[in-house]
Parts: sequence; structure tokens; C-alpha cells
Amino acid sequence: MILRGAEANIINDTGGIDIPEHCLERLDYTMAGFHSIEEYRSSDIETNTRAMISVMGNPYVKIITHPGNPKYPVDYEAVVAAAKENSVALEINNSSFVATRHGSDSNCRRIAELVADSGSNIIIGSDAHISFDIGNCDEAIKLVNSAGIKEEQVLNADKERLFEFLGIEI
Ligand SMILES: [Zn+2]
Repeated sequence: MILRGAEANIINDTGGIDIPEHCLERLDYTMAGFHSIEEYRSSDIETNTRAMISVMGNPYVKIITHPGNPKYPVDYEAVVAAAKENSVALEINNSSFVATRHGSDSNCRRIAELVADSGSNIIIGSDAHISFDIGNCDEAIKLVNSAGIKEEQVLNADKERLFEFLGIEI
């Protein structure tokens, strides 16, 4: 089974993303995160936190991608608590440790520790920027294990768990 998903840009601090609803409703899942785009340039921690938490209220958004990006600092305690409350998964992104978003390491560690304490859910992603890295999650898995996140908190460690979370019937 192939799932159709997309990663959208967060474009404001009121829950907006840059994929129109008529496309979102045809996807199996949607992720959202901060990227360098014209529409959203803030690096103010309060605004970023408000934007990230607001987008969790968007009914199409199931996953927040690479929340440890140092270019878009957020209040990690608030974000992890809101993710739990909204049943949204935070992504631990392998590429953040090896290829992109340099300086993510300590932020991702903090997020992982908070997730371990809160019992909220994560997704592990390779975020491969080249075909050879698809499915390479080695660094992300190391962090997840060392932070004490339990296997049952990792949604994509189990197909049934993931599909249930996404609301997809197997
Ligand atoms: Zn991204």
C-alpha cells in the first residue's frame, strides 16, 4: 500500500499552510513545518511557537516536521505539550543530524527528552535529500533510544499503529 502524503509550509501564526483544501482532502496525511519561504520569515520565539501550535489545530496536519530547526526557535515545552493535547506527532528527522538544518542536535535532544517524559508521539523520518538515504534513520534512532522514548511512542515503528493514527483502514 502506498500512502500519499505531503509536507506543507507553515505560512502564518493562525494555522495556515500552503496546500489548498481540495488537495489536502485527497491526501492520506499532511505534515507541516517551517522552511525558508517568502510568506513566513519570523524567527521570534513567541511567534514561531504560536505558529507551530496553531497549525496543530489544522485538522489536516498530523505531523510537525523537524521542530528542532534552530532557524525557527520555539518553546519546546509548549510545543510538546500541545502536540500531545492535539494528538499530533513531532518528527525526529535524521537529516537534521547529518545534512541539513545544522545546529539542530541539541534542540532535537531537548524535544526527545520532553517527549519521553510526556508520553506523546513521534515519527522518525529519514528526510532523504538523495535516493541513497531513503530509510536511513540511524542518527534519529540513536537519539530516540538515548532519550528514553518508548517504542510504542514511535508511530511508524508499527504499521498498524501508524495507520490507526492516520485514520487509514488496512
Ligand atoms: Zn521540511
